[in-house]
Amino acid sequence: MPLPIAHSMMGYAIAEVAEAANVRLTNKKWFNVSIFVTLANLPDIDFLPGFLLGEPNRYHQWFTHSLGFAFLAGLFGALFYWQRQNQTDRQADGFGRCGVFIGLAVLSHIMLDLLTWDATPPKGMMLFWPFDKKHYDVRWDFFLSSRRDNVSTTFFSSLLNWYNFKIVLREFLIMAPIVGLAKVFERLWKGRKQPRPLDIKNTQVARLGLLRVSPLPVELANRRSLTALAEAAEQDEHEQ
Ligand SMILES: [Zn+2]
Repeated sequence: MPLPIAHSMMGYAIAEVAEAANVRLTNKKWFNVSIFVTLANLPDIDFLPGFLLGEPNRYHQWFTHSLGFAFLAGLFGALFYWQRQNQTDRQADGFGRCGVFIGLAVLSHIMLDLLTWDATPPKGMMLFWPFDKKHYDVRWDFFLSSRRDNVSTTFFSSLLNWYNFKIVLREFLIMAPIVGLAKVFERLWKGRKQPRPLDIKNTQVARLGLLRVSPLPVELANRRSLTALAEAAEQDEHEQ
């Protein structure tokens, strides 16, 4: 597996592309990016049961590292997002786009893991779960496997070594151009969109029934505009 740095950078890149496609899981940008970064690291949650049993690798790269899991994450993620939204905010294509980007973030983890040299058997992952429980791997290894203990008590401290530092650097250098491209794409895509004029009746305030347009008070209603008053004053001056 690459270390969380490559997965997190990929999650950030996907959040940028999602932004260009108008897919935001929350209003705050930093929180939206955090969700995509978490999703891009989600399959490694399979360290947890093994970790609790004292042997972190025990269930690693099982079903959470599969196309089926990415699909289910997209589906349930979109359902969760859908039911959280106000009925008036729900858009017909929002569910699909949201599911695609959530699924994509999880899928990116599996793709990066596939492109990693796997040092511990069984090599590869349960790619086609739930239809096939065999482990699959590919031969293109851009990322190197981190060195770590398979004992819970020393698992985290064993990650801190010079070899893993070099891996982090390599991951950063491979992923930086991808993040840069996603950022440029988001800027260009947003730039080409024309800002739509605001329809005041379509704002959240109006939908909640809080928008009241009251008529002008009588004493102001019959008054001329400031420009007209200024013009009239100027004319008066000339006439004098
Ligand atoms: Zn993984």
